[in-house]
Parts: sequence; structure tokens; C-alpha cells
Amino acid sequence: MNETTESTVFQFCPNCKSAQINSENGHKHLCNHCQFEYFHNTASAVGAIICCEDEMLFTVRAQDPHRGRLDLPGGFVDHNESLEAALTRELKEELDVTIDNWQYFYSGANTYFYKGVLYHTCDVVFVCQLFHKPLLTADVAEITEFKWLKFDEIDCENIAFASLRKAVQKLLKQTIE
Ligand SMILES: [Zn+2]
Repeated sequence: MNETTESTVFQFCPNCKSAQINSENGHKHLCNHCQFEYFHNTASAVGAIICCEDEMLFTVRAQDPHRGRLDLPGGFVDHNESLEAALTRELKEELDVTIDNWQYFYSGANTYFYKGVLYHTCDVVFVCQLFHKPLLTADVAEITEFKWLKFDEIDCENIAFASLRKAVQKLLKQTIE
């Protein structure tokens, strides 16, 4: 299975257990037996581009999908949470640091294949410019390590998700110009 595989969220209707449940593009699921309907809607996710002088902060993924590849700090937005609050929470969880001065930078569609289910996300990237590198502690359950990479050392092809890769490329392009 790869990222582009459209998964079947339900093999049987969760309401009446009928096998007559159909999915349209993995988004709308309709039971032809009891008319139960479920929309597997696009999930919000956030990512942080944190820069200090000529360096950018990356994490290395500890889990699939894309274990071992570069990532930006961030993750899925919880219920009843703003994008900025989600990012601040994720930074605290992943790196034990409090950062809350975010500026919107970029958004892009993405897919996330996890345990047989394909999630479509809209990844929203915020930037934060720091003047001093903060003390960071990696949560090894989520990330194996963090890395400050100089702008000219960043291998964009090693960034796990296409949307985040595009955001980093956009920022690097602006920095050069
Ligand atoms: Zn049903």
C-alpha cells in the first residue's frame, strides 16, 4: 500500500452491518440498505517552520508513515482547537518548548496513510523567527531527534510530506531572493 491508495473506511455499514455500503472517492460513504451516511472529511493539520538566523528546525519521524525522514514539528488539529493552539500544543508535546507567536505562511493538500486508512489533510504551515535557540527535548515516541539545518544544507527531497516540502521550498526561495 502506498500514500495514494484509496482505502475503504468501512467494509460493512456501522449502523446496520449491511455490506451494501458504497464509497465515492473514499469521501462519502452511503449505506444502500439503511441510508446511513458518513463523510470522511479532510482533516486539518499544522506544521511549524522555525528559523534561527540561517538555520531551520526539523524533526526526524519515529513512526510510519515515512519513518526516518525529515518532518516539521506539528500534527493533527484536535476537536475544538484552533490551528495556532494545535501548533503550540504539538511543540510542547514533541520538543517540550513553548512557542506561540505564529505567522501564517502556506497551506497545501496532503494524504496520510495510517493503519489501512487513507486520510486526506489540509496542512497549514506557520513560521516563527527565533533570535536564540531554545532548549529542546525530543519526545522519542514521536520523533527520534531534532536537527537545526543550515538553509543551504536542507535536502528538500528528504522531507516526508509533499505539502511541507513545498512550504520549505517556498521559504528558502524567499530567503535567497
Ligand atoms: Zn446500513
